Amino acid sequence: MAGRKKPPADATPFVRAAAWIEAHQDDLVALEAELTRRNAVGPGSGGPGEAEKAGFLEAWLAANGFPPVTRLTASENGVPRPNLVVTVPGRDRTRRIWFMSHLDVVPPGDLALWKSDPFVMRKEGEKLVGRGVEDNQQGIVCTAFALKALLANGVEPGCDVGLLFVADEESGSAYGIRWLLDNHPELFRPEDEFVVPDAGNEDGSLAEVAEKTILWLKVRTVGKQVHASTPHLGKNAFVAGASLVVKLRALYEQFDRRDPIFDPPMSTFEPTRREANVANINTIPGEDVFYVDCRVLPGIPVEAVLAHVRGICVDVERAHRVVCSVDVVQREDAAPATPASARVVRDVVKSVRRVYGVDAKARGIGGGTVAGNLRKAGYPVVVWSRMDETAHQPNEYVWIPNLIGDAKVFADMMIGEIVEDT
Ligand SMILES: [Zn+2]
Repeated sequence: MAGRKKPPADATPFVRAAAWIEAHQDDLVALEAELTRRNAVGPGSGGPGEAEKAGFLEAWLAANGFPPVTRLTASENGVPRPNLVVTVPGRDRTRRIWFMSHLDVVPPGDLALWKSDPFVMRKEGEKLVGRGVEDNQQGIVCTAFALKALLANGVEPGCDVGLLFVADEESGSAYGIRWLLDNHPELFRPEDEFVVPDAGNEDGSLAEVAEKTILWLKVRTVGKQVHASTPHLGKNAFVAGASLVVKLRALYEQFDRRDPIFDPPMSTFEPTRREANVANINTIPGEDVFYVDCRVLPGIPVEAVLAHVRGICVDVERAHRVVCSVDVVQREDAAPATPASARVVRDVVKSVRRVYGVDAKARGIGGGTVAGNLRKAGYPVVVWSRMDETAHQPNEYVWIPNLIGDAKVFADMMIGEIVEDT
């Protein structure tokens, strides 16, 4: 780029890689545009899958000096779900860091909410707008350009580095990382570490290392429907259900363990949706259905929570002469947390401080992410990006300065500590 100073030849590898990334901003933006153009909505959401996008990225990597790409393709009812793998050896062959991003995107949703075609990237000052530009092309582009900055400058990575571009993240990873772990165990070594640049916050201070168990319950109470003028002849399911909602607050006391890594630091048990009952005011409802969204700290057994809920139901059944049932609508058990002291976490924190001047903190979140699959398989994983979190929204966007900055963070991690010969 015109006017940009070249770093001196004796500059550190990081300074050279960072300058190279800045000088290639237009190429980062161009790659975002090309990836956006290739619709990679999964077949389960009515899309074509990742084949075209993966084919383009594979060709791009080959044309840009990367080592040969391994393509591992799962099949979902005949639709190919390709996963791409690139590895580069480093100085320390006993260590390997993987950077994992996903190729698939979610559908654009209501097109009326988009200001422009979701699959044609639009540049708006320092912003890029389009489906997938953040989720997860920011990860794809930043990790690819980080590694390219090393390759282009003749910088050997500090340890083995792998890039994984996986399929099917948005609908459970059965044809993505879970499929790779099950069907291609030869890819991974027990000591491997992972960075997943697929979530974060606006200033880059969130390094996600832990997740809570997700447990969604449907609670149904059956009484007896009668005319509202004769309540003594019926059993008001609404009253019984309401009593149940209030009694379920006891879950907060029963499971009151705190873990400061999470925000909020405790398990949460919140009644949310309630189904409509009778349509008229003069009928006592015979059925009541509500739902509870539980986010449970890792280490608290789901069975213990369910047993407590069922115990409360028995009390309400006795008091109101109704029948209660509890169904698990969704359950995703938390993976063991990655310790904040894990090397890959400390590396992210160090590189974020160097590039952005921000102190990133290892934190837990309430939901489940793709990282859980890797943590369940025993790998340390840190989820990190600097982004506004516009994933899945209309007019999804990324900031170009974040693309540049995140690429520098990953390049710094890949370079590692330079040990001077003495
Ligand atoms: Zn994502």
